[in-house]
Amino acid sequence: MGSDRGSKVVIIGAGLVGSTFAYSLMINGAFSEIVMIDVNRARLEGEVMDLNHGMSFVRPATVRAGTYEDCADADVVVLTAGANQKPGETRIDLLSRNTAIFRDIVGKVTASGTEAILLVATNPVDIMTYVTLRLSGFPPERVIGSGTVLDSSRLRYLIGRHCRVDTSNVHAYVIGEHGDSEVPVWSLANIAGVRFTDYCAVCSVGCGRGLPKDEIFGEVKNAAYRIIEGKGATYYAIGLALTEIAESIIRDEHSILTVSGLLSGQHGLRDMCLSIPSVVGRKGILMRIELGLSTEEQALLQRSAVLIKEIQGQLKI
Ligand code: NAD
Repeated sequence: MGSDRGSKVVIIGAGLVGSTFAYSLMINGAFSEIVMIDVNRARLEGEVMDLNHGMSFVRPATVRAGTYEDCADADVVVLTAGANQKPGETRIDLLSRNTAIFRDIVGKVTASGTEAILLVATNPVDIMTYVTLRLSGFPPERVIGSGTVLDSSRLRYLIGRHCRVDTSNVHAYVIGEHGDSEVPVWSLANIAGVRFTDYCAVCSVGCGRGLPKDEIFGEVKNAAYRIIEGKGATYYAIGLALTEIAESIIRDEHSILTVSGLLSGQHGLRDMCLSIPSVVGRKGILMRIELGLSTEEQALLQRSAVLIKEIQGQLKI
């Protein structure tokens, strides 16, 4: 296991996601130095001041505004810069705007000579992870997208709420695209190792209708749209999801997370970034785990991949 000595993260984009992530990291305490970069200088300085004013309540850390030179000795560089979804807009609609921004940002990050792990949150996150991989020329294990880590968390929370068990005892994954074509892996989902066909038979909650899979997955898939309609943006849960990934990297935790990253033949797919459960540690993505999917899940994953490939084909990187 690694230590948290002198660990440094650079967050590019001090917007809602970047700042909430910084706040969550401050409380978590895994990084001793949190550097933030944003084109909007006034916003950046405001966020840094606000965060620093809470320092007496957390483990001591340095939180400051920085420059791309800070990436040189960073352990993790997190990309949250870019436009966010407007009500009714899909993540794919954001693509051309955010690709242009990334051409600028990733060029500056790599020019610093950094050996950091790059962690991408900007949407559409699978495509932006692929764009980052190509623009940086980094090895695939060092370019990670937050992928469906958040979606898997949403799924686990909703199952746990329905079945009245702690979310951490629900084992369920969403794989594929972080977006409309994402795939819930119901065939392997379980509580305490017991699949739902058996679990529902012994469950004491007595809902009398089994697990309402369509209802639950509908909520997962439409969560971002609903939150954006309600309050304009999503940032708390993604802030925590990014913290989980960054912590697994810096502490070499080998956590299994549904991050996005380059596929090299898993499930018959290659040359695209999508989420499958992956072991995440100090060197980035250490291993990708191919699940034993049902025929229907495999077909849905293929459909997700075809969609991503189509969009990738239109990219001018
Ligand atoms: P936001 O508008 O609050 O913040 C974006 C920030 O990026 C702004 O402060 C802006 O000034 C900055 N920025 C823009 N261009 C820049 C550049 N060239 N260099 C440096 N900074 C630049 O948006 P947000 O709500 O924080 O969302 C950020 C991104 O995260 C969006 O793409 C959003 O869709 C995505 N997101 C992803 C997930 C996920 O699960 N992966 C969840 C929520 C949001």
